Amino acid sequence: VAIAVTRERREGETRAALTPETAKKLIGLGATVIVESGTGLGSSIPDADYAAAGATVAKDLKTALAGADVLLKVRAPTAPEILALKPGAVVIGLLDPHREKDALKALTEAGASAYAMEFVPRITRAQAMDALSSQANLAGYRAVIEAAAAYGRGFPMMMTAAGTVAAAKAFIMGAGVAGLQAIATARRLGAVVTATDVRPAAKEQVESLGAKFIAVEDEEFKAAETAGGYAKQMSAEYQAKQVELTAAHILKQDVVITTALIPGRPAPRLLTAAHVASMKPGSVIVDLAVEAGGNVEGSKPGEVVTTPNGVQIVGWSNLPGRIAADATALYARNLHAFLGLMLRDGALAPDPDDEILKSALIAQGGQVVNEGLTG
Ligand code: NAD
Repeated sequence: VAIAVTRERREGETRAALTPETAKKLIGLGATVIVESGTGLGSSIPDADYAAAGATVAKDLKTALAGADVLLKVRAPTAPEILALKPGAVVIGLLDPHREKDALKALTEAGASAYAMEFVPRITRAQAMDALSSQANLAGYRAVIEAAAAYGRGFPMMMTAAGTVAAAKAFIMGAGVAGLQAIATARRLGAVVTATDVRPAAKEQVESLGAKFIAVEDEEFKAAETAGGYAKQMSAEYQAKQVELTAAHILKQDVVITTALIPGRPAPRLLTAAHVASMKPGSVIVDLAVEAGGNVEGSKPGEVVTTPNGVQIVGWSNLPGRIAADATALYARNLHAFLGLMLRDGALAPDPDDEILKSALIAQGGQVVNEGLTG
């Protein structure tokens, strides 16, 4: 099987779908690997390192894709990449099919078999393939680093000859994979950390990291987790109670990191303009959900907005891309593990009944096939 990896073409995408380590492993599984020149640059991987691992470096995407059975991507491929695909080729990536509708259409029309890594189910067997988690973890870390850099004060309490510097108060909203890493990172930097979520299971996890849990813990809260472990969309009544609770807490916070997402839906609004206006000058908010519509009223993708009352709202898109070398390393391993399900003796042989492959498959034979997209 010939596996190709092309340079990411989406604006600001610094990650890559291959590392020299995974190139070597894929070759070990009997594949040939061809990588477009420049693929690793955003992650500090020169072409020569791929070549040293046994991959062929192609000068452009057409050369890379000419004989490729499989195309590995970080983000959904662009039109020129899709046009250069061999009929029936397999495309695997964070294809974001709910939002990347044009790419999904083009992939379907090209007759490609497309697998969206976001749809890998969160079962034990699939943990090594869980790209959402590998990337969210790094995003949670990076969000705190961004907040610390933007904040004009320190995080830890410091007792100096010139007096004491108070510890920063950090509030993490949404305690999934990203939020839990944000809690851990903020704690390591010395902040006093509180956190909230709508899933009851999050409470124990937050507390085990040494942060205080704050939430509206009513009957709806007790039933807010789906069988898949995700949050449900909460009722208007619940959200109103949440807004009120947040209003009292937010006044005292210096740093707020929001990470709340609901799969396939716009991100829930957790901070209103009134919340933001009530915060102290110099406070920093980082909205990790900015690309999904934002948890914070007034956040803008790719921008740092400074409000009239002197609060910065950091809306960097693609936080994992700001820690690209690690994000690439982990994502490439997720892909290698996923490909392990498809390769038998160096040939492409996906088992159509495999639960993981079935969940991730979004297009095949000219059709959109995933229930989450068609139903
Ligand atoms: P996510 O990215 O979908 O959402 C982030 C967090 O936002 C979640 O914790 C969610 O509950 C929370 N949220 C949603 N609406 C909210 C609201 N209105 N207010 C406050 N918070 C809100 O979630 P995720 O990080 O992908 O993780 C979801 C769950 O899946 C977690 O329990 C995680 O531990 C679990 N998980 C399991 C596995 C596995 O078993 N293999 C792997 C990864 C994650």
